[in-house]
Formats: sequence, C-alpha cells, structure tokens
Amino acid sequence: MKAIILLGAPGAGKGTAAERIRDAAGFMHVSTGDMLREAVKQSTILGGEAEGYMHRGELVPDKIIMRLVEGVLKDAPSHSEFMFDGFPRTIGQADLLDEVLAKRGTKLEHVIFLDAPQRVLMQRLTGRRICRACGANFHINNLPPRQPGICDRCGGELYQRPDDSEATIASRLQVYSQMTEGLIARYTQRGVLRRVDSSCGADQLAAEVLSVLKAAGAAD
Ligand SMILES: [Zn+2]
Repeated sequence: MKAIILLGAPGAGKGTAAERIRDAAGFMHVSTGDMLREAVKQSTILGGEAEGYMHRGELVPDKIIMRLVEGVLKDAPSHSEFMFDGFPRTIGQADLLDEVLAKRGTKLEHVIFLDAPQRVLMQRLTGRRICRACGANFHINNLPPRQPGICDRCGGELYQRPDDSEATIASRLQVYSQMTEGLIARYTQRGVLRRVDSSCGADQLAAEVLSVLKAAGAAD
C-alpha cells in the first residue's frame, strides 16, 4: 500500500495533472479542497465548522482537515493507494498524516512537486477570462476567444475575476511558497521529493509525472 502527495502553487496545473494521474495510475484522489466544498454543500457537522473560515478566506484549522482525511482513509478499502492533493498544507498536517499512514501501514512513496517559474504562474493566472453571461472560461494566451473580450459560446462579455488581478495573485503565490518551504525541505530530506517542471502543457506534464512515478517505483 502506498500514498503520494501532489504539491503545486496556484497555476502550476495541479488540478488537471491530478485527474490524469488518478485515471492512469488508479489512485484514490483525496482532494481536501473538494472534500471541504462538499462537506459545506451537504451541511455536515465538519462542513459547518469549516464554513466560517472559508468565507473569511482563512485557512481551515488542521484538526478539521485531519478529521476529513481520517474519515476517507478509514472508509477506504484496505488495498487503496492514495493521491493527496492540496494536503498536507502545513507541517502540523504533515506530522498528523505520518501518524495516520503509519497506523494503516501505508508508505508515503513520492511527493511530486510541480514547479514552474513565478512568471509562468503569473501569466497563466492573470490571463483567465470568464463570460459574465454563461460562465465559460477562456485564457488570453492558452485558450483565446475568437474575438477579444467576447464569449465564443454566447456572445457575452468576458471579464477578469478580481481574484485574478496581478497584485492578488502575487500575494497568493507568496503565501503559497512560504507555506510550502518547510514541506519541501522535509520531504527532500526524507528522499521522497520529486521535482517536475510544470511550465509545459497539461499532456506533457501528466506524462512526465507518470514517468517519474514509474522510474522512482522501479528504483525502490
Ligand atoms: Zn458566454
């Protein structure tokens, strides 16, 4: 039994990579972000506790996150292999994850760090445009509309979310890199960190991650 962790800043392509790796390698995808949104939607007790933090844009406390993760691991078939996405986010969570995995006898095999230069992340994140009318997503470089500022699907007006402004993104990226520094150091020291350049396209990125997983597995 094994587990891997996917680390990557906003814009690093983690979401798409996670889907493809899950489909290709058969991992159970544990996304704490998805689980939190689902818990809030279903109005579970944990969802209720988490909601306030999420609305204020604060980090949900480690103990709530851990209860969600423990719930998933407890209910999973014993042969499951896990891919953690967006988790752990803090050293505290990483400590707790070690405990939970040790209890199950699950080995943390790889921590894949999707790494891209700041300017690439910035270009990806500030280029997003959304249709006011139908919500379709575009990107000024990677998925441009046929006519600038106009939705291909419905002719609606495209806009940039306030969250996608350069200043907001710069501060999100800085918060991410500060938070992740300790995790990178921890997993490097343990010899499980695999750094993958994620400035390429989604197909190439998924292929590279899969080849890293294969090579590292064969070398064990
Ligand atoms: Zn539209």
